[in-house]
Amino acid sequence: ATMPPLLAAVAIAGRHGVLVKSAVVMERLGQVDAVALDKTGTLTEGTPRVADVRPCPGSGVDEGTLLTLAAAAEHAAEHPLARAVVAAARERGLALPPAEDFAATPGVGVTATVGDRTVAVGAPARLLPAGAGAGTALADAIAGELEEGGRTAVVVVVDGEPAGVLGVADRLRPGAAATVSALASLTGSRPLLLTGDNPRAAARLAAEAGVEEVRAGLLPQEKAAAVRELAAAGRRVLVVGDGVNDAPALAAAHTGVALGKVGSDLAVETADAVVVRDELATVPAVISLSRRARRLVV
Ligand code: ADP
Ligand code: MG
Repeated sequence: ATMPPLLAAVAIAGRHGVLVKSAVVMERLGQVDAVALDKTGTLTEGTPRVADVRPCPGSGVDEGTLLTLAAAAEHAAEHPLARAVVAAARERGLALPPAEDFAATPGVGVTATVGDRTVAVGAPARLLPAGAGAGTALADAIAGELEEGGRTAVVVVVDGEPAGVLGVADRLRPGAAATVSALASLTGSRPLLLTGDNPRAAARLAAEAGVEEVRAGLLPQEKAAAVRELAAAGRRVLVVGDGVNDAPALAAAHTGVALGKVGSDLAVETADAVVVRDELATVPAVISLSRRARRLVV
């Protein structure tokens, strides 16, 4: 017996490390005419490194304490930034005290109790506006300086007062620019970058990847709203993302593809297809495969 072409295409994609959840999804992949990409873990390698540890002068917190408190609070988080913070503490041989009352807010950061201190770690734009003290202006200045240098700034707030800022560096995936241009020509559209990261780091990375349209500083629901806006304008949007923060955008997509390596269970569950081999280049490849298969369907 011969297998229907779309099912055969699902099998072929599977052998190349892309799990397409059904023949219907395989067909839809070939229909997309707009592309929205996440940044961290999608266009970038997703293994960011802490490059700067900057306590706020006058906060009474030194570099070691800043990193220790941040890593203790991030210990239970699955975000790539959290892993970078924990790895940096480990590399310096810092012992991590246990944290309690851990809570993560996608697109914002985490909070936890470490010993007798309350620690919040996350996006300066989300955490700093709440602060009033002198430390807030200092932390804001340090974060701005780091972001100017292309870093993702992560602020550490201890007992309500900004204690310092970490600068995180992430690399473009090898081949990301080629994938972006392949997606552009396959869909006849200009791929869009949707990110929760700061506009400066986002613009720098987008330029490296050849992405011309960028929307930065977005919360997960705002990423989804951007996708729905395109859909309302009649576009069939392919969303490619990796993390729990991408789940709403993946759900709003015409077709959602999750990258598996650093991916969260929620993203994998929400997506229509999952790239388990963590190769971004397989995304345009499955679009081409879908179109070849559809041509064989009578
Ligand atoms: P992206 O769209 O690039 O994947 P996210 O939406 O996951 O980014 O996160 C947006 C921003 O929120 C990050 O740049 C960071 O500043 C902050 N953030 C989110 N989660 C964390 C975390 N666990 N630790 C530190 N910062 C975080
Ligand atoms: Mg991400």
